[in-house]
Parts: sequence; structure tokens; C-alpha cells
Amino acid sequence: MVEWDLAKVQTRVRFPSPAKVFSSILLFISFSHTTDLKIVQISTSAKQGELIYLRSEVISPQANLSLNFLGKDVPCYQVVTKKNKSETTQASEITIWECFMAIPADSPIGKQTIKLLDQDKAVMSVNSEIIPTAFPIEPIVLSEEKKSLLSKEDRPQDLKKIKQALKSESKTKKWEKEFLQPIQGKIESLYGEKRILDGELKKGYHRGLDLGAPEGAPIKAANHGEVILAGEFIEEGNMVMIDHGQGFITAYLHCSKILVRKGKKVKKGEVIGEVGSTGVVNTPHLHFGTYIHGAPIDPLYLLNKFSYN
Ligand SMILES: [Zn+2]
Repeated sequence: MVEWDLAKVQTRVRFPSPAKVFSSILLFISFSHTTDLKIVQISTSAKQGELIYLRSEVISPQANLSLNFLGKDVPCYQVVTKKNKSETTQASEITIWECFMAIPADSPIGKQTIKLLDQDKAVMSVNSEIIPTAFPIEPIVLSEEKKSLLSKEDRPQDLKKIKQALKSESKTKKWEKEFLQPIQGKIESLYGEKRILDGELKKGYHRGLDLGAPEGAPIKAANHGEVILAGEFIEEGNMVMIDHGQGFITAYLHCSKILVRKGKKVKKGEVIGEVGSTGVVNTPHLHFGTYIHGAPIDPLYLLNKFSYN
């Protein structure tokens, strides 16, 4: 039910590593006109709800890369430094930069341009394509009591806190490899779903994955990180948000119990709360949200199609 910020289940395909994920859709481009920069991996197409990935090598200690896509700038992060074996430049080190860009459900489809920027100046552009995803439309039913929560006056304060948390972006990468599904539960509602309430199509779309499970079932952190939000909200109920670093955030909604505090460092798989039905929901379930630079992507994509070594 939650629609803050910003498919029928796609087949669950597990890709073994980004190298393999992107090998079929990669462009290998060399580029060394104005800066010593080379894109070594890039996914040039993505479906709505997925992400775009770019990896580049830079021979410049002063580099500060970012991406501009769909009118939005997002930071890239330096992940590795290695010795430069090339004899054509004198620089002793090459730095590897990675950029992840969310393609949320409402992204415009068709051809788009990805701009790579260094120190805010465009140094390269690449053509890409966003492929439409057929998101389902589902009617939902809410009790009068739960519906009354939708018009609470303190809602703007909740939204302010949530948006602020989604903007937080620690530069240190805490996440490692695969993201874990926080509970084993029945899929009740998909990311991207449009909803009809009382005969009216609601604005926006469902920004997470609803997993049905018994009240009290333990919820596990999807990856290593730090708790950036833990508290009670009108529509979200008891909610925990974890910052995994470099733009990755996960959210856990409608908990019956929260077992962590803001500022706590958590390990992948650590229990952070229990399944409940707090907030605007009918039955106990976990609403699991996955965000990249503040924009929601499909949790099933992150869980089943994305893996990273
Ligand atoms: Zn939900």
C-alpha cells in the first residue's frame, strides 16, 4: 500500500556475476580524448524496474565521475586502484569507477542518452534503451479503519523523514555480493503494480515487494549496512531502513517489532525485526523496498538477477 518517493513476476533467472550479466549487452569502448578514461563494461539497455551499470578505468588521480541519465545526476564511486602497466602514460595508477543507475517503473521508455561526467563536465555519452515492463493492475481492499490512516495530518512529517533517509548516501561500500531475501514468504504484491482502491486508479505505483508471512516471523537484513531509520510511521507502520553504502538502501515495512536502533551496524542475515501488520495493511506481511540513489527498483531484480563479485 505504500507509495512514497519517487510485473507479474518476471522469470527468476540467476545471473552468476556482473561480467556474465552484462556480457551479452556490453559495449566495449575505448575513450581517451580529453581524459584518460575507458569504459570497460556498460549495460546499454534495461527494463523498467531494473538498473544500468557502468564500469570505467581512469588514469587520473583527480577524477570524480558521475552519470547523468533521465535528467538526474548520480555519483559514481572509485572501487579499486591498480598499477598502470601501460607505457603510453606516465601515471602509475589506474582507478576503477563504478556507477549504478536505477530505472524506476515510471521511467520513459525508448532510446535515452547516458552521459558520463568528470568533475561535472560531460566527457562521454552512450546511447541506451529502456524497455517497457508490463506491470499488473490490481484492486485492493482496505478496512475503514486503515483507510482513515491515509488522511492523517502528520503524514507530511513522515514523508520528510523518509525522503531525508533516502537521500543519505554513505560513500563507503558496505554491501557484498548477493542481496538476501529478508524472509521466506509468499509473494502477495509486486513492485510496479498499479492499484485500484474504491473503483479509482491510484496515483503512483507499488514501490516494493510484499511477502506474506506469519506475524512474528524474523526479518533479516538483506546485506551488510547501517540502520538509518527505525521507527513508527502512519502508513508504513514500524519501519527499518538500512544504508548499504554507495547509494544502495533497503527498507522493511509493517513490522510488529523493530529489533535495531538507528546507527546500528548490521551484518547480512542479521535479524532486524519481526513481520507484522502495522500501518496501512490488511494482513501480516513484509513490504521490502530496494533503492539505488533514492529511486526504487524491483526487489525481485536485485534478489534474483543481480549478483556481484
Ligand atoms: Zn507493499
